[in-house]
This record gives sequence, C-alpha cells and structure tokens, in this order.
Amino acid sequence: MIRSRLRKTPVPGTRDSYTGIDFNLGYHIRHYRLELDYKVAPNHLRAVATLSLDNYQELKQLTLDLASHLRVTEVSARGIGAVEVTVARFRHANAKLRITFDDPIPVDQEFELTIRYSGNPRPVRSTWGTIGWEELSNGSLVASQPCGAHSWFPCDDTPDEKATYEFLITADSPYTVVANGALDSKSVKGSRTTWRYHTNHPMASYLATVQVGQYKLIELDGSKTPIHAYVPPAVIPGFRNDFADQGAMLELYSKLYGPYPFASYTVVVTEDELEIPLEAQGLSIFGANHAKGDKDWERLIAHELSHQWFGNSLGLAQWDDIWLNEGFACYSEWLWFEHSTGKTAAESAREHYDVLASKPQDLLLAAPGAKDMFDDRVYKRGALTVHALRVLLGDEAFFAMVRSYVAAGRHSVVEPIDLLREARRAAEAAGVAVDKLDALWDAWLKKTALPEFPQ
Ligand SMILES: [Zn+2]
Repeated sequence: MIRSRLRKTPVPGTRDSYTGIDFNLGYHIRHYRLELDYKVAPNHLRAVATLSLDNYQELKQLTLDLASHLRVTEVSARGIGAVEVTVARFRHANAKLRITFDDPIPVDQEFELTIRYSGNPRPVRSTWGTIGWEELSNGSLVASQPCGAHSWFPCDDTPDEKATYEFLITADSPYTVVANGALDSKSVKGSRTTWRYHTNHPMASYLATVQVGQYKLIELDGSKTPIHAYVPPAVIPGFRNDFADQGAMLELYSKLYGPYPFASYTVVVTEDELEIPLEAQGLSIFGANHAKGDKDWERLIAHELSHQWFGNSLGLAQWDDIWLNEGFACYSEWLWFEHSTGKTAAESAREHYDVLASKPQDLLLAAPGAKDMFDDRVYKRGALTVHALRVLLGDEAFFAMVRSYVAAGRHSVVEPIDLLREARRAAEAAGVAVDKLDALWDAWLKKTALPEFPQ
C-alpha cells in the first residue's frame, strides 16, 4: 500500500488513505487571496480566488480540490518573472479542477492562478459526516477538519501544505464576518461591508475559516495576548461566566508550552447549538449550548485553545498522526484542571485509563485509520501516552522537552519522530534509560493492547 507518508515523493495516482482525496502533485501553493461576496439569506457566494504557486515538477496541467456544487466560470494564469503561463482549458468534475496550460511550465517557476466561481456553498460528505461551509439559521460557519476546505474555495486540501492567506469578505452590514488572522480594515459601501483579514502564519487549508453572524465583540482579559470574542447578544451573560478563565488558560499554556503562536486568539459563539466545538487557526467556534453559564464545557474551552499549539502551529504531515493533536489537547484539559482545581493529571489519567480498559483494544494509536480517526480512544490513549512520557522523564525534563518540541515545529508540520527525538534527548539528559523510552513508545503507539498504567 502506498501511504501518504510518501507524499513528498510525487507518485501520480495516489490518494490520501484517510480523506480519499487524490493528491495534487507538482506544486506548492504559497498564498491564497480569497475575495468572497456572500449573501446570507440565499446562502450565495460569488468569489475570486487568487493563488500564488511554485512548481517542483514541469507542469502541463495541475489539479486543485473544489467541490462540484460550486461553478467555475473563469480560470486565468500569470507567470511571475520571465515565465509565461497561459491557460488552455479547465475542467471541473468530481471535486477536482483540472487546469491545462498552453505550454508546459518549466520546473521551479512562480505563477498565479485566478479562479472565478460562484454557487451555494454547503458541506461536503465525508467518512466523518458533513464538513466545510455550513449554513446557520442566521449566518454561516466553516468547520473543515479534516478535508472540507474545498467546500468553499479551490485549494490543495491536505494538512501538510501550509500557506499564508488574505480574505476580503463582503456581506450585508448587520452581519459580522470573522476570518483567520488580523482584521486589517472594514469598509462600508451602501448596505454592505467588506472585511479584510490576513495571516502571515502558514496555515493548512482545513484550518481556514469564515464565520458570519450577528455578533457583538467582547474583549476578554486575563492574558497578555489579546482575546476577542464574537457572541450573540442573548448569549453574553452565560458566555461571560463560562469563558471567565480563558485568559488564565492562555497564560498557563504559554508558560508550559512556550509563547502563544499567533498574534491573538478569537472565540466565536454561534446562535445555533453545535454538537461539538470546532477548531480553526487562531480561533475556536462554540455553539450557544456551550455558553449557557453553567461551566459545563470548561474542559473543551481549554482543549480548543491548546490546539493553537498542537494542531495549528504544529501541523500534521499526515492524518495517521492525529494523536499528536488530540493527545496533547486532551492532556491540556487535565493540566488545566491540575492548575485550577488541584485534581492532578495523574488522577484524570487514572479515570480515563479505567474507561479505556473496559473498551475494545483493537486500535493502533500510530495509525488508527479513517474510521477511528476521531474515536475517543485516540484522544484518551494519546493523552495517556503524553502522561506516560511525563511520568518517565519527570516534570522538569518533560515540560522542557515539550517546549523544545513545540519551538522546533513552530508554524510547520511535525511527525511522531520529532517528538520521540526530543524525548530521547530529554531522557539522556535526565539520566533515564533510552531503551525504557523506546519500550514505552512501542507499547502505547504500536501495539493495540493497553499497557500498564504509568506511575
Ligand atoms: Zn481536539
């Protein structure tokens, strides 16, 4: 079986074994400029996407991911420097936009593609239900993990290809539009407002997001990093209570993991209820049901924030490694409670270990497969693996190791070997036998049976 791990060696005709998406080969997208004209009531999008690319193979044609429910009306290209790039034709079918050039583009050129498209954006179906652009009762949201980005813009819908983004989004003025990165400007023309955001931090396509709703902006304190919240007026009282510790959480994780990776953190609470909170780069999205004022969701408020380090700044090279995101995010919940309530992470670990022990032990943490990618056992066994590392290394060496791993992978992608390398180094420095570490790693990641509880 050819695995996504071979992605860096372009092999025509291979696909991501998790998402089922055929790889787009031969190029990297470095920057997306997305101009979106959105009408809320008819849920209609008219858009121009300008993509800046370079190619590591000669290209007579290339493919992008774009859902078939959107209609492409025009594709043009522009070479940068001496190279001339012109589009001979394009074909959009089965969620692939195939662009053929008049002449092959020689290797290592820079060029731009401009794609005009329109339609009614909606989620795409996946193994994990529908994902991507979703209409709300009064607005819309985007939640694409792991491969829903192509439900609303043409992209290379794979986690390991990161790019910078610019958004120019126009909507009716009563609506607030939130996207990733910094809000640069807001300009009103007639009854409509254009919101301009940009981010210079590389981002995977699935973490790109647009949130549209009738929200009120609230600034949360308690942290040196600015925290913005967009909340429907009716939800504000409950929100203030439930998110009161958001700043303290951000400070705790900055201390434990190293500096917060982005310029600010944003929380959006939708008017609608959401089954689960959703992560995006620099922001998290919660439903009105997560901010009712009863502090029921504190665990997930901490969890989503920690994804800014684990999942967003440190991205994944392939979905096999989802435990690197969810294991650390789940462990972050336990660390928050250790800090805020005195319930130790070891106590949380023990509770969840006992639950895991009662469940089927047929899941391989190192490669859970598409169906079990978001299985709770991946989250909890991942967190227990992190806890086992902490127990083996001791607190001082463990947290220094995590900070080193986070700093090395910042704004990039990581693989388990990157964590193991740091752990080996930490073990050596702390005088812990490296073969003990290797045994721990094998038992938790590469075998299905639940190892003994780490203590
Ligand atoms: Zn998560």
